[in-house]
Amino acid sequence: MEIIVVKNDQEGSEKAFEIIKAGLDNGEIKTLGLATGGTPLKLYAKMREAKLDVSDVSTVNLDEYVGLPADSPQSYHYYMEQELFSTLNFKETFLPNGMAEDLDAECDRYEQILADHPVDIQVLGIGTNAHIGFNEPGTPFSTKTHVVELTQETKDANKRYFEKEEDVPTHAVSMGIASIMAVKKVVLLAFGESKADAIQQMVEGPVTEDCPASVLQNHPNVTIIVDEAAASKLK
Ligand code: PGA
Repeated sequence: MEIIVVKNDQEGSEKAFEIIKAGLDNGEIKTLGLATGGTPLKLYAKMREAKLDVSDVSTVNLDEYVGLPADSPQSYHYYMEQELFSTLNFKETFLPNGMAEDLDAECDRYEQILADHPVDIQVLGIGTNAHIGFNEPGTPFSTKTHVVELTQETKDANKRYFEKEEDVPTHAVSMGIASIMAVKKVVLLAFGESKADAIQQMVEGPVTEDCPASVLQNHPNVTIIVDEAAASKLK
């Protein structure tokens, strides 16, 4: 794991942007893996400002809530449309369909999309409980795209986006740990003190399903970009 400690999220987003821009310029990135949440917002702003030509690049996203239509402002389809897809000219974009009637079939369909579009660089965030994607602690490392039940901690972290706590979906479709481990390169971003414990355990703790992000210790190509607050518990 390469760890880059930066001053703040602005500097971290610039570093991540440089990595992605270099991968686009040298043709390494044919499929870009994307994440949602607060963490990548400044990275996506930089990508919009740069008006990147991504006409030969496909994207796949990590996850989507179950039961939110694509035009619901809290859905990850909507987030991606707002932040990137309405501005940049990606060849094609994929997210899990959380409205699918048969969610198991949807998981199989998404795994096939991942097989057809091997991810060259995956942008990742991390939960305060060290989840990656929506893979909560205890998720077997062998898991492929699956339906997950969100933990209370994750629902609490995400309720800021919803009017009422009851509106937070209880389930999501997420790339599994094995699906994430299959990507060629991971760029994980974490900013702020609330991520310090998760970062410490991911980097210095044992590789265990209790800490989903710790599996990345076994991935051959991971760059972690953290601000000083998120890095503050590293030894
Ligand atoms: P955040 O979420 O970027 O909103 O902090 C990260 C995550 O839960 O993976």
